[in-house]
Amino acid sequence: MATAKYTPRPLGLDREFFQLAVTTGKLHLQHCNACGHHQHPPRRFCAQCGSGDLGFVPTANRGEVYSWTVSHFTVDSGWVDDLPYATVVVQLPEGPRLVGAYTGDASTLAIGQPVSIRPEARTEDYCFFWIDG
Ligand SMILES: [Zn+2]
Repeated sequence: MATAKYTPRPLGLDREFFQLAVTTGKLHLQHCNACGHHQHPPRRFCAQCGSGDLGFVPTANRGEVYSWTVSHFTVDSGWVDDLPYATVVVQLPEGPRLVGAYTGDASTLAIGQPVSIRPEARTEDYCFFWIDG
C-alpha cells in the first residue's frame, strides 16, 4: 500500500535553490558573477574560480537525457504505485546535470533525447523535478 512520498526539508543554499523553483516554476542554477560558471548543487564558492560572488539564475527548464536507471523496487513506499519508474540524469545546456523522475515510458528513453523539467511544489521550500519527454 502506498503512503505519501517522502519530502525532504532542505536547509541553507539547498533551501534557497528549491524555494526559487517553487515560487517561479523555473529551475535555477547557481551562477558565478566573477567567471560566468554555472554549478549544481549550490555551494558557498565557485568550483571553477573560487569566488564567493554567486547568485541564482533561471533556466529554460530544458535539457537532454545524459543517463537513466529504471527502478523496479523502492524502499520508499510512497513510490510503490509508480513502479517501475526511471530516474533520469539531465544534461543542462548551462553545463551542470540535474536528477529527476521521468514521467513517460522508460522503454522510449534515449541518450540525447530532449526533455523538459517541471518543478512540482511539495512544500513551500521543496519540489520534485519531473522530467517530461
Ligand atoms: Zn567563478
